[in-house]
Amino acid sequence: MNYKDALQNKIFQIISKSAAELSLDSYVIGGFVRDYLLKRGDAKDIDIVAVGSGIELARQVAKNLPNKPKVQVFKTYGTAMLRYNDVEIEFVGARKESYNANSRNPIVENGTLQDDQNRRDFSINALALDLSETNFGDLLDPFNGIKDLDEKTIRTPLDPDITYSDDPLRMMRAIRFASQLGFTIEKESLDAIKRNNDRIKIITKERIVVELNKILESQTPSIGFLLLEKTGLLKHILPELTALKGIDEVEGQKHKDNFYHTLEVVDNISKHTNDVWLRWAALLHDIGKAPTKKFSKKVGWTFHAHEFEGSKMVYHLFKRLKMPLNEKMKYVQKLVFMSSRPIVLAQDIVTDSAVRRLVFDAGEYVEDLMTLCEADITTKNPRKFNKYHNNFKIVREKIIEVEAKDSVRNFQPPVSGEEIMKTFNLKPSREIGLIKEAIKEAILEGEIPNEHEAAYNLMLKKGKALGLKISN
Ligand code: ATP
Repeated sequence: MNYKDALQNKIFQIISKSAAELSLDSYVIGGFVRDYLLKRGDAKDIDIVAVGSGIELARQVAKNLPNKPKVQVFKTYGTAMLRYNDVEIEFVGARKESYNANSRNPIVENGTLQDDQNRRDFSINALALDLSETNFGDLLDPFNGIKDLDEKTIRTPLDPDITYSDDPLRMMRAIRFASQLGFTIEKESLDAIKRNNDRIKIITKERIVVELNKILESQTPSIGFLLLEKTGLLKHILPELTALKGIDEVEGQKHKDNFYHTLEVVDNISKHTNDVWLRWAALLHDIGKAPTKKFSKKVGWTFHAHEFEGSKMVYHLFKRLKMPLNEKMKYVQKLVFMSSRPIVLAQDIVTDSAVRRLVFDAGEYVEDLMTLCEADITTKNPRKFNKYHNNFKIVREKIIEVEAKDSVRNFQPPVSGEEIMKTFNLKPSREIGLIKEAIKEAILEGEIPNEHEAAYNLMLKKGKALGLKISN
């Protein structure tokens, strides 16, 4: 088979010419070929294998390019990278790898293209196109990767037990590709992942999180999370989620399975947002339910204060996985913490003041919070489903209305502490706090508009009630 059409980018001609000048063979391999055949859009990365020195080939290519780009050399890995337009092109010499038990970093020797294809993780990632001048575009597919692409199958080129045990990151990659591409992991491979799941402990947290994010970013993230659970990987990575599994029954009363519920919420939200942090919030919104679960005869199952517990758990989870402990983490915490607020609100008559308080507390995250709560509606009862969605529609409309009237989203007190001190000739004191709180409460309750004049008058009234005298 010939796939010249895949090689229309001028860079491939230049690589071909450069390789000929160095008398070596070169191939484009891996993700680029796979994604071309899957019609996944323009590639941002291109991987080139040289049978010889990848670094030398990269230097020769740079020489032959009009703008003479810089070549970044990674000596320890024997690789080199250059940028051409928007594309990163990575060069590596064909290699043969062998592993030892404690590390995913192999012992490397020079090898043939075939050796190099053998070390690839999946048949669909081992596809290579020849860049030599005589066989330009010829496909080299030693493991029937084309067939696996057609049949949407993830298969390892060699014995899966060895493949996964050598480099356990491949278990995460298999599941990530299954989730991203909607592929099935073949049975032997899936069984091998189950057998090797505890090997994941030798993989750094950072690499695990890269794969988790890719799963979360896929169209239907539940595919990936169900596979993580089924293979036993999830309990090593996110035990907070596996703890949500199961339905308890006491005296005929059951609660829902919060693990499967969570995955439904994540799939729902993924139809409305590509923001990976909002998807994280959906994934973690119920994690506080496992440690707070209680049964009492009077009220049945409760998860009292699970939102508060959950938001604390977010911090520990991010820390353990070496995720950033920055404003993104705080965002996820806040959404988890507030995840029941709009629900409680929408069960009743939606009042202006309740919506104003919601906007005040959620601030700039209020729309994301609404998106989360809408995704949280997983009831199979169509009457309830419509009722909740309608209520949330009302809440959303009221948010806009209330915002237009009194902007409380990034609330700035219309009367400052300084103005209160000046008016009553006060030093910093308790009274100032009391007056400020009274003004804020009056605004949130809708008793006064969020304006200076009304707030000033209330300050005078409140000051008088506190026995304060206006200074001259
Ligand atoms: P994506 O760009 O979506 O991450 P990709 O397949 O291009 O997909 P890269 O991590 O860029 O992923 O890897 C490039 C190629 O290198 C892969 O297609 C595969 O052939 C090989 N590869 C990457 N990681 C591994 C691994 N852990 N074990 C074996 N081969 C790997």
